[in-house]
Amino acid sequence: MTKSLFNHYKKFLPITPETPEVTLGEGFTPLVKSINLSTKYKCDMYFKLEGCNPSSSFKDRGMFMAVSKAIEKNKNKIICASTGNTSASAAAYGAKYNLDTIVIIPSGKIALGKLLQAMAYGAKIISIKGNFDQALNAVRDISDSLNLEIVNSINPFRLEGQMTGAFEIVDELKSSPDFQFMPVGNAGNISSYFKGYNIYKSENKILDIPRLMGVQAEYSAPMVDNKIIKSPKTIASAIRIGNPASSELAKEAILKTNGQFLKVSDKEILDAQSILAKEEGIFCEPASAASLAGFLKYKDTNNDYINKKIVFILTGNGLKDPEVAQKNLKSEIINTSSKIEDISNAIISGKSSNFFKRFF
Ligand SMILES: *Cc1c(COP(=O)(O)O)cnc(C)c1O
Repeated sequence: MTKSLFNHYKKFLPITPETPEVTLGEGFTPLVKSINLSTKYKCDMYFKLEGCNPSSSFKDRGMFMAVSKAIEKNKNKIICASTGNTSASAAAYGAKYNLDTIVIIPSGKIALGKLLQAMAYGAKIISIKGNFDQALNAVRDISDSLNLEIVNSINPFRLEGQMTGAFEIVDELKSSPDFQFMPVGNAGNISSYFKGYNIYKSENKILDIPRLMGVQAEYSAPMVDNKIIKSPKTIASAIRIGNPASSELAKEAILKTNGQFLKVSDKEILDAQSILAKEEGIFCEPASAASLAGFLKYKDTNNDYINKKIVFILTGNGLKDPEVAQKNLKSEIINTSSKIEDISNAIISGKSSNFFKRFF
């Protein structure tokens, strides 16, 4: 049987004898060592493939814990506001553990794959005319009177569960990385990693905590600009958040680890998404690619990363957002008849893609 985060990291999680085990097989995601980009940039790069979680994003790490505690409290309905991945994750756990799942989403702003997931798992989907921050405000206002358990990252158990990402990285590397680049939306995940690394430090499993580098999109960068952004804009919908719920914890994480908040343009995000796919064989969603985009920007004006161990948290799978990918990932499709001769001519004469350059 697959091991569960619930059992494996029980000691570090808010689990009592009354807490029921909840699992969809989350966690234990691959930490893949880069070859091509590491060589190019003279450092050791590792990609944490959080898109390999059951609902294809890191949200499952927090959701198993939040849902477990909801069941312990005898709640039978969960609710969240979502830019997409929280709703997909909540709906999946809700389905397995027989909880009604209500998701409040900003109308027209959810990536197609994420919306399909919430539908497939059978959530009640309420689409509002407004942005994520307004959806979250509504959830905060409604949940008490309707006796609904909030499973957004303002639920402290979400952040506890997400600490397991840090535990896995240290358990695998047997040390702490020097840097960690990750996208920042509501700023819960960066706060969780900070807590997780701190716990492992106090257990003497590591001496230092990596420098945490939180990456935001240019017009959706409340942490970098140090102010609330009323109408945040970016193609990276998972980090299109103007008023991060965990901003105070995240600021502490950056301050105490000598880290930084950085911002990158949508073009830099899309370029990074393409680079990860074409050079490392990893197709992640735009928000996740912001982590690499942040590094590519950082390296232009710094050299303290050279020969260092750098982890990138690739938070979600690229297939979740086919529309952005279709618009931006260029590749040529060669149309031919079904004749063997035409097909082989097409193979030999292909001109532009890397594949052809390499093999002919
Ligand atoms: C939720 C999410 C983020 C942002 O995480 P926060 O904890 O909100 O900062 C980044 N990438 C993806 C794919 C997400 O789903």
